[in-house]
Amino acid sequence: MKTIYLDNNATTRVAPEVYEAMAPYFTEDYFNPSSMYEPARQTSQALGAARKGVADRLGGIDPREVIFTGCASESNNAAIFGAARGNPERRHIITTSVEHPAVIEVCRELEREGYKVTWLGVDRDGNLNVREFIQALSPATLMVSIMHANNETGVVFPIDQLSRIAKQTDPSIIFHTDATQTVGKLPIDLVSGLPYVDMLSFSGHKLHAPKGVGVLFLRKGTRVRPYLFGGHQAEGRRAGTENVPYIIGISKALELATERMDEDEARVGKLRDRLEAGLMERIPAAQVNGKGAERLPNTLNIAFHYIEGEGMLFQLSGLGICASSGSACTSGSLEPSHVLRAMKVPFTAIHGSLRFSLSRYNTEDEIDYVLEHLPKVVANLRKLSPYWDNEKNAPRADADARLGQTHLK
Ligand code: PLP
Repeated sequence: MKTIYLDNNATTRVAPEVYEAMAPYFTEDYFNPSSMYEPARQTSQALGAARKGVADRLGGIDPREVIFTGCASESNNAAIFGAARGNPERRHIITTSVEHPAVIEVCRELEREGYKVTWLGVDRDGNLNVREFIQALSPATLMVSIMHANNETGVVFPIDQLSRIAKQTDPSIIFHTDATQTVGKLPIDLVSGLPYVDMLSFSGHKLHAPKGVGVLFLRKGTRVRPYLFGGHQAEGRRAGTENVPYIIGISKALELATERMDEDEARVGKLRDRLEAGLMERIPAAQVNGKGAERLPNTLNIAFHYIEGEGMLFQLSGLGICASSGSACTSGSLEPSHVLRAMKVPFTAIHGSLRFSLSRYNTEDEIDYVLEHLPKVVANLRKLSPYWDNEKNAPRADADARLGQTHLK
């Protein structure tokens, strides 16, 4: 059975061009880039070129502002703990209630240490309220950490506007953004587009590079305390021999994504729209989460009321279709998505929400296959739902009253 992979916000296939670019650095140019002999000098040069490649594709930043890490979670931890440890005189952090756990849990840890954290909420479409953000800024504010786009819904936050406001209010506030879901999908220019962002995190495996490599952009002059000691690498900010093949991989992946972005994202956006329109047309009592917000072109989070996401995923998996409910980090638990809860998505919709996330490797045929099969899966599960009227193929008249919810949009 063919696999139809629609879970690219969880991880992506390594692009063949990336794999090819990495290969020699395992078996031929495997030298430690810090060693003094000639072959190692070449490895070191390749590392430098990869770093410059990443810097160029983030708007032409200084390559020394690029720190390679093991993943976006590490980058987020390094950014937030690093800012806190480097600036102990301030103890207030602003973030949102819809961040990835790699930001939420770091902020909770700092809360336990006595930091004050403002958790900004979102509206029904997943948008932040800029006025609330402005009101949260205070003379004690150490940093802001707000994601660029949400991994579950694809909702994009106005990071350019928020970072400008923060810096204009107080230039010493450090602004961090988790751009794991946007790098490679949206243009990122840290020189002219996002000049007020001090730190930005992302990960290779969301943009067709392997798992195990990430980036932390750290703007020159930003005061952070290093978190890995014991080596001179990355100018002492992250000790440890560089993972050369993977760094070559992430640089190549970013090069490819940037070069093909206009074409790929337009095509992916059309496929996503086809999937969204087709499902909404074929399935009653469905809603798109984040519909009214600016969203990543590849992401569709859609709720089918009165059934369980897990049941759908299981049946889809039997048909070769890979999707998810919630984020990769929360799936497998029975906890409903914290993102959809923050959006006040009705109870029956949270539990019946699925995320489809596409990539440049998806095809129209794959989307049509989902459109053919998913409506049947939903219909079959609804037959078992006590809230569904099978004759009318609609929710039972008393369904919402029994569930204590009134909204079904
Ligand atoms: N941040 C966001 C927004 C993500 O979507 C993810 C992964 O799903 C991460 C951070 C963590 O990435 P990694 O697996 O590279 O640590």
